[in-house]
Amino acid sequence: MSVPFLDLKAVHHELRDELDLAWKSVVQHGHFLGGPEVERFEDEFAAYCETSKCVGVGNGTDALELILLAIGVGPGDEVVVPANTFAATAEAVRAVGARPRFADVLPDTLLLDPDSAAAAINWRTAALIGVHLFGQLADVSRLEALAARHGLAFIEDAAQAHGARLDGRRAGSAGHAAAFSFYPGKNLGALGDGGAVVTDDPALADRVRQLANHGRSARDRNCHEVSGRNSRLDTLQAAVLLAKLSRLDRDNDRRRSVMARYRAWLPDWCTPVAVAPGAAPVHHLAVVRTADRERVAETLTAAQIGWGVHYPVPCHLQPAFEEFGERLPVAERAAGEILSLPMSPSLSDGEVARVCEVLRGART
Ligand SMILES: *Cc1c(COP(=O)(O)O)cnc(C)c1O
Repeated sequence: MSVPFLDLKAVHHELRDELDLAWKSVVQHGHFLGGPEVERFEDEFAAYCETSKCVGVGNGTDALELILLAIGVGPGDEVVVPANTFAATAEAVRAVGARPRFADVLPDTLLLDPDSAAAAINWRTAALIGVHLFGQLADVSRLEALAARHGLAFIEDAAQAHGARLDGRRAGSAGHAAAFSFYPGKNLGALGDGGAVVTDDPALADRVRQLANHGRSARDRNCHEVSGRNSRLDTLQAAVLLAKLSRLDRDNDRRRSVMARYRAWLPDWCTPVAVAPGAAPVHHLAVVRTADRERVAETLTAAQIGWGVHYPVPCHLQPAFEEFGERLPVAERAAGEILSLPMSPSLSDGEVARVCEVLRGART
């Protein structure tokens, strides 16, 4: 039995009829940008995130970049980001002309370490980005307090955490603003690129919307008040996301039960990344740590089981960012030990059992 890492065809199979309908209705009304589905999705997603505002944008990287621009982060500024994240977090900082200042992660959760973040702050620091990696919230209470103490903006990169909570707080509701991605493989994924900014600050939401729509005035579409750009959520993607949002909690529950089975059935030398007390993660990825990753990966490949590494090279050691020269031992060590097992709401118990059986057989 082969087990795919992520089978997007299977994820969408049950939704086929709803997706066909969504597609048809958008083709019929013809408002391919800014159609009624966009506003409906924005309202529903803001409510889902327990925030007052949502602005649909082109993708998750743009969401981060637009937040930074709207806050006024630019050349001469520094933004603290965790070393263990997808490159987009740091890219967004570079794109607005600021410098990413990498901080280390906690050894158990591999999420931004508030002490390391505090040590990275200096007089140039303008913002702090907490990344909810693998589907678990970073320590938003401590990061929020740290940002407040230094007068910084606190931004959440929630691209991997749609619906997650920590101490009851929803991903996206803790920072000044949060960025979401609807890349197809994310917990809430479009059929292409998409993203959103959520916030409780209506003025910030208005600025993001204006910047994402050529700097247009809200009152006169022919008046370009600022030099913006084009980064909007397509109506078609919004219609797809509306259909999928209604199933997100069910999908996240399924991810939780897959993870619970991994925890119960994996051999003890293959340890899932820790869940912090008070956290209710949504398991975007099933990341385990193992001393001999090469051997484990070979075993999985030989058994036709999909796997990945998120991420094999921490951000601060990537050629794009290594000029800054940070050394961050926890992230560097983890990068050599982590491995992502198949994870998806369409995984069956039998498939999870097969993955665990193959791993248990690897070192007996
Ligand atoms: C996917 C992702 C992004 C970027 O989202 P895109 O929609 O692909 O631009 C940013 N940060 C993290 C942590 C991500 O996983």
